[in-house]
Amino acid sequence: MKYDVIVVGGRVAGSVSSLFASKNDINVLMIEKRQEIGTPVQCAGATSYKTFETLEMKPSKKYVRSEVYGADLYSPDGSSATLRGPVAEGLILERKIFDKELAIKSAKAGTDIMLKTNVKDLLIKDKKVKGVIAKHLGKTMEITADLVIAADGLESQIAKKSGLNTTARPFEICSCAQYEMVGLDINPNYLKFYFGEKIAPGGYVWIFPKGDRVANVGIGIRSLKQSAYYYLNKFIVNLNAKPVELNIGGVPVSGPIEKTFTDGLLVVGDAARQVDPITGGGIHIASACGKIAGEVAAEAIQKEDTSSDFLVRYEKLWKEKVGKSLKRSLKYRNALDNMDDDDLNNLISFAQGKDVGSLSKLSMIKLAKDYPQLVKILKDLL
Ligand SMILES: Cc1cc2nc3c(=O)[nH]c(=O)nc-3n(C[C@H](O)[C@H](O)[C@H](O)COP(=O)(O)OP(=O)(O)OC[C@H]3O[C@@H](n4cnc5c(N)ncnc54)[C@H](O)[C@@H]3O)c2cc1C
Repeated sequence: MKYDVIVVGGRVAGSVSSLFASKNDINVLMIEKRQEIGTPVQCAGATSYKTFETLEMKPSKKYVRSEVYGADLYSPDGSSATLRGPVAEGLILERKIFDKELAIKSAKAGTDIMLKTNVKDLLIKDKKVKGVIAKHLGKTMEITADLVIAADGLESQIAKKSGLNTTARPFEICSCAQYEMVGLDINPNYLKFYFGEKIAPGGYVWIFPKGDRVANVGIGIRSLKQSAYYYLNKFIVNLNAKPVELNIGGVPVSGPIEKTFTDGLLVVGDAARQVDPITGGGIHIASACGKIAGEVAAEAIQKEDTSSDFLVRYEKLWKEKVGKSLKRSLKYRNALDNMDDDDLNNLISFAQGKDVGSLSKLSMIKLAKDYPQLVKILKDLL
C-alpha cells in the first residue's frame, strides 16, 4: 500500500490534519488503533468558538451539549468569583460525537481510514521516514508514504521512533479523572472550578454542565500523594449525583516539545504537547496546529519535498499562530505553582466582581499593592 500522507491517530489532531491535507487533493490514510473514533473519551469537552472558526465549520447541535457564558471560581476557603465575557465563553462538546464528526468530514474530503490498526513502528530509509509498520487483527503490514503525521496523543511513540525528543518529566503531566454525572443542581451555562491543596493539589476540580442536570465532574492534579481518582471520589461525596461514565487520562502541561518535525514527519496535538499549560485545554490548539500540519503536508507533497528543510515551515507557522499564547500560559502556570492556599484565597477575592479577562498590568500592580504577599508571584508576570 502506498499513500502520500499517513496520519497516525484519529481524534482531533489526526482528523483535522487529514481533513486539511485531503482538501488539497492529497492521497491520505488515517490510522486509528481503537475500533471506534472518539472513544474512550479523555476530555471534558470545553472549547472556544474560535475552534470552529479555525475548522471553518459551524458548531452542530449533534455534539454541542451546552453553551457557556461564564465560570465560577472557588477558592480553598470557599469564597468565589465569577468570570464573564469572551474569555469565559464557549461550548461544551460531546467529544465522542464531535471527534467522529471530524473523521466523517475528513473521509468525505477523501481520507481513507483504517480502524483497530496499531502503528507499531516507522519505516525509515536513508534517515528519512518513509511510512509505517502497522498491525491489524494479528496481521502486520508495511504501508509506505512520503510523509507521516504523528497525531497519536500524549503517549506518542511515533515521534520518539523518528528520533525526536519527546521525554516528559512526571510533574509536566497533569493526571486527570472524570465522571459524567447525573442529578447535579447547577447552572447549565456556567463552568465551576475549585482550587486548593486539599481539593486538587497542583491543579483544580471542574464541573462542566452538559444540560438537564448532567455534567462532567473532573479533576487534574500534579501530585504524587494520592491518585486523581482518589481526589475525585473525595470531591463527589456530597454532590448527591450518580456517575454514568468514568474517564482517566493525562494532560501535558509543560509547553510543546522542542522540535515538531523531522525528515518525512510532523508531530501535532497532544503528541507535540500543544496544550495550554494553565487550562489543560487542547482541542482548539490541536485544531489550529492540525490544520497547519495538513496544509503544509499537502504543499510538501505537491512540491515533492518532505525534507526537514521544507517541513520547518510547519513549526514556524504553528508558533506564529499559538506559540505566544502557549508561552504566556506557561508563565502564568509557573506563577500559580508558587501559590499556596492563602495566595489563591487572596487572588480569588481580588477577582470578585472584576472583568478578569481584561486585567491590565495596572490592575496587577494594584493587586500587588493590596496583597503584598502576592508580590513575589506577580513580579514574574509584570
Ligand atoms: C480528563 C481530561 C479532560 C480534558 N478536558 C479538556 C477540555 O475540556 N477542553 C480541551 O480543550 N481539552 C481538554 N483535554 C485535553 C484534550 O482532550 C486533548 O488535548 C485533545 O484530545 C488532544 O487531541 P489529540 O488528537 O492530539 O490526541 P488524542 O485525543 O489523545 O488522540 C490520539 C489518538 O491516537 C490514537 N493512537 C495512539 N497511538 C496510536 C498508534 N500507535 N496507532 C494508531 N493510533 C494510535 C489514540 O487511540 C487516539 O485516538 C482534556 C484531557 C483530559 C485527559
